[in-house]
Amino acid sequence: MNPLDTPIEFLKGVGPARSELMRTEMGVRTFGDLLHYYPFRHIDRSKFYKISEINPEANMVQVKGKFKRIDSIGAKRAVRMVGQFVDDEGGQLEVAWFRSLTWIKQSIKTETEYVLFGKPGEYKGKIQMTHPEIELAESFNQPLKGGLEGVYSTTEKLKARRLDSRAIRKLMETLLPHVMNQINESLPGYIRKRQELLPRSKALKSIHFPSNSEELCAAQRTLKFEELFYMQMRLMNIKAKRNKEIPGQVFGAVGDHFNTFYKSHLPFQLTEAQKRVIKEIRKDTASGIQMNRLLQGDVGSGKTVVALLCALIAIDNGFQAAIMAPTEILAQQHYESIFDLLSEMHINVALLTGSSKTAYRKKLHANLENGQIHILIGTHALLEDKVKFHNLGFVVIDEQHRFGVAQRSKLWRKNKIPPHVLVMTATPIPRTLAMTVYGDLDVSVIDELPPGRKPIKTVHMRDSNRLKVFGFMREEIKKGRQVYVVYPLIEESEAFDYKDLMDGYESIVRAFPIPEYQVSIVHGKMKPEDKDFEMKRFAEAKTQIMVATTVIEVGVNVPNASVMVIESAERFGLSQLHQLRGRVGRGAEQSFCILMTGNKLSNEGRKRISTMCETNDGFRISEVDLKLRGPGDLMGTQQSGLIDFNIADLVKDTEILEKSREEATYIFDHDPELKHEQLALVKTHLTLLMKRKPNWGRIS
Ligand code: ADP
Ligand code: MG
Repeated sequence: MNPLDTPIEFLKGVGPARSELMRTEMGVRTFGDLLHYYPFRHIDRSKFYKISEINPEANMVQVKGKFKRIDSIGAKRAVRMVGQFVDDEGGQLEVAWFRSLTWIKQSIKTETEYVLFGKPGEYKGKIQMTHPEIELAESFNQPLKGGLEGVYSTTEKLKARRLDSRAIRKLMETLLPHVMNQINESLPGYIRKRQELLPRSKALKSIHFPSNSEELCAAQRTLKFEELFYMQMRLMNIKAKRNKEIPGQVFGAVGDHFNTFYKSHLPFQLTEAQKRVIKEIRKDTASGIQMNRLLQGDVGSGKTVVALLCALIAIDNGFQAAIMAPTEILAQQHYESIFDLLSEMHINVALLTGSSKTAYRKKLHANLENGQIHILIGTHALLEDKVKFHNLGFVVIDEQHRFGVAQRSKLWRKNKIPPHVLVMTATPIPRTLAMTVYGDLDVSVIDELPPGRKPIKTVHMRDSNRLKVFGFMREEIKKGRQVYVVYPLIEESEAFDYKDLMDGYESIVRAFPIPEYQVSIVHGKMKPEDKDFEMKRFAEAKTQIMVATTVIEVGVNVPNASVMVIESAERFGLSQLHQLRGRVGRGAEQSFCILMTGNKLSNEGRKRISTMCETNDGFRISEVDLKLRGPGDLMGTQQSGLIDFNIADLVKDTEILEKSREEATYIFDHDPELKHEQLALVKTHLTLLMKRKPNWGRIS
């Protein structure tokens, strides 16, 4: 057996009880696992603080000195020991122990020099350290193994078994000699040389026991590179396999439907970006390989018409198309706008949502199966087993971040040969994430807005300025514009938020009285018919103000609405704010977004608001969002597993990610089968990795 696979209980100093704990608490089962349990930071143990300079807010500090006295304080269960520790310069520190008191009493002596290491705090105005690491200065003074010492994360349960950071470090010292000569190189020499990386065994040793900070940096860089490189290799491998194994429908020609629509019914000129994306899709769908493409385009960039034109190509080739939207309102809106656009053409468009009636459904199911319906638009309802297509060739998933992985894969099973899939999103994904989470998809970007749009002006207003905001709303309404007022509705505190919304609605109705003003309201608790009725009234400009929750976040298109007021804006995430703002600025007039907040803002809240005021660029906003929230939160729990790195950090390691991607791309462009002997070790390593983790490649 490879020593790296040895169960951890056989490491000296571990044993059965600790090994069980290491498995559950640290995820460490084998020698190899422990080797890859890296310190989360390193501290400079060659440096001593003067006690007089310690600030109670400081992180870990190290001091040298003697105990003047150690006392037992309190009685029975509240008993503790407190020592007065003094350094050379007379600075004084209090040390408190609550556990292991007998051991302290027996072993800690006054007038002996010790080195203490721990996190300082403050207790009754004095600097205090509780349960510091403690070592005889005499033994400490022996030449250090390295200036830098790794700190390992532990838990209360581990500490209760005396597995603190220090103990883990001891285990690591025991471990290394057993495994050092078993560590195989994972990167070809030419990559290591070009990227200035350490040999793998050297990197692994140095990450645990670096002799100085340069060596530590090189070790971190090497291990991060390796991790990111193999993540890329894996994604590219999945994509290459899919291209080989999964055939696609062939849309051989562009026909009458497309051409007639393009020449005679398209109400505007396509932007260059739209044309480019259609060409990209056109190429994919003619290739005989299933398309899996992500289309990113900021709100209002005109993704719908791109989807429609491609659906027409599918129809020209005898296939049906489906467009799936995350909400009923949006599905309805897609249906209406596509129905209108195609009104003079002989194409059957149908709508299917959760609220479609039984009799209608029956007929629809039949017409879908016999191929009479060409384009089906709807919500999750499209995924039901009863919905069977005659010949589904093209699927559009709008605003995919609302759809789960499992739901998407369900669409695949509707055909023997899977349809081409176009995933559209207006939530820009930072480049680093696009390269990782969606690394196996092809990506198209619409990076241009239709002409004539004015950038939305965004301002931040305190609640105390509400009357001013109302005044502004009146002016805009007088000019014939319409206004959204959006309230947060966050599930956990729904009753509370709901009250906010209703109070807000009432104050608006009071400030904007009938008959001069008409106010609509839409929220999640309303019946779908009522929601639709209100949305329609607003879309037809029969009401001037729409008070709503975030149900209007995605996709809704009322070009005459030019003011978006967001209440309690500090409670929304950046991407949500950006989405909401995207509801205005769709017509030719100047649009405005007003972010209302209370007076008190957290730092993060302030950053979000100021970012919104500074830029309309969805990509820039997503980068800030990534920095504020971290990749896990950004992608939602479902996908966060894909970006669970051991050492790499998608926010900080962009440069290493780019470099590793370049190397991986080069390999796949030149030798996708990894036949070259220089790549033998890459192949071995990759095969191992592909076996180990579930295949999460089919995320589309
Ligand atoms: P999104 O990308 O946010 O889904 P939509 O597809 O809803 O954007 O398009 C927003 C609006 O822009 C729609 O009213 C649409 O008709 C219009 N539009 C799309 N493309 C163009 C274009 N090339 N020129 C002018 N208007 C366009
Ligand atoms: Mg849209």
